[in-house]
Amino acid sequence: MSYSRWGPDSDIYMFENVEGYIECMVCMLLNKSGMATKLESMKFTKRSDAIEHLNDHRSAGHKVPKRAIERLKFEMVICDIVGGKNIYGETV
Ligand SMILES: [Zn+2]
Repeated sequence: MSYSRWGPDSDIYMFENVEGYIECMVCMLLNKSGMATKLESMKFTKRSDAIEHLNDHRSAGHKVPKRAIERLKFEMVICDIVGGKNIYGETV
């Protein structure tokens, strides 16, 4: 399930990778020129880092849907309730 996919209101594609981290696929912050020969993705194990990354996208003028940040924050609340760790057993 993705936090956000590319679309009219979104310049980012962020999702939970099957390997257990949150990925910003072909991150525009890493591939600024549009001429990148190597397309790279950003990977996060902490939701707080992913939120910070989405704020960086916003600062750069990229479209980031509010729902993506809200869902990450909601998941952090759930993690707090179940013991302050994310589903991978790491401290949030
Ligand atoms: Zn990114």
